[in-house]
Amino acid sequence: MLTIENGYRISIMLTEACNLKCSHCYMSANAKGKTLSNEEIDNLIDNLPINCLRISITGGEPYMCRDKLYYILDKIKNKFGKKMPEVRVETNGMFFYYDDATIIKEVQKLIGLGVSTLRLSDDEFHVRGGLNIKKLRNIEKVVQENHLNIIVSTLFQDKAVAFGRAKELNTNKIEKKKCLNRKESLIIPYFYTTIDGDVSTCAWKCAPSLGNCFKDRWDDIVKNLNTPLQSAILNSNIEEVARLVSNGDEDRFNYLKNILETKGQCMACKEMFKGKYE
Ligand code: SF4
Ligand code: SF4
Repeated sequence: MLTIENGYRISIMLTEACNLKCSHCYMSANAKGKTLSNEEIDNLIDNLPINCLRISITGGEPYMCRDKLYYILDKIKNKFGKKMPEVRVETNGMFFYYDDATIIKEVQKLIGLGVSTLRLSDDEFHVRGGLNIKKLRNIEKVVQENHLNIIVSTLFQDKAVAFGRAKELNTNKIEKKKCLNRKESLIIPYFYTTIDGDVSTCAWKCAPSLGNCFKDRWDDIVKNLNTPLQSAILNSNIEEVARLVSNGDEDRFNYLKNILETKGQCMACKEMFKGKYE
């Protein structure tokens, strides 16, 4: 039986809005997009089980709604107290990277709110979207030089999975992606929320929802992991997922298996489920 007895990790989408328009963006983010309301943030954080190991705040770009970012971080800090999980903020850094003093001030603010990791992206997709790479790299330098107590973790990507805007990329930039769920997901699940509060175990919000974190009890959301379909998704057994959705139709199964083998697991999911951003 799949549970969260050993803890869980969660990635919370704070806003769909972004100041960049990267060509590989799976959610086709742009300046207009929904942001969580304070009430939705309250419902979400108040109801989270306490044995959380990691919370990532993502967008879009969380700094598009700076007040909401501080609000949710404060909520997390007050809720978890001494049981504070690792808290990550995933940002393109552009709202505070323009000079050293601003970087120091902002990073100190985040540390005060309990943030342990700043997750940045250093790649050509973001540069072409408008990111100044020199200024971005300066964030880590300033953090180190000033001994600021935060981890700067940088993600590099030269290919992307064909969701959202990435569908339009040249084929040599398209990645034949394997499921992001790993064996450890069966012991410590990773949940991802959409801007509407739907919870799934798919980073691209493609797999069917387990429930809604604004309305449903977490006990019920976790219980829903134990259907054959959701268990197979968490186990990254996408061939089994294809078998289940084919429901005995061998032609359909062979068609999905062919996509799985030629285009990868994520594209097979895309064919089976209409993802939130597709
Ligand atoms: S910074 Fe991130 S959310 Fe914004 S457009 Fe680029 S990939 Fe999408
Ligand atoms: S789309 Fe499917 S295969 Fe890809 S990460 Fe999501 S659940 Fe895994």
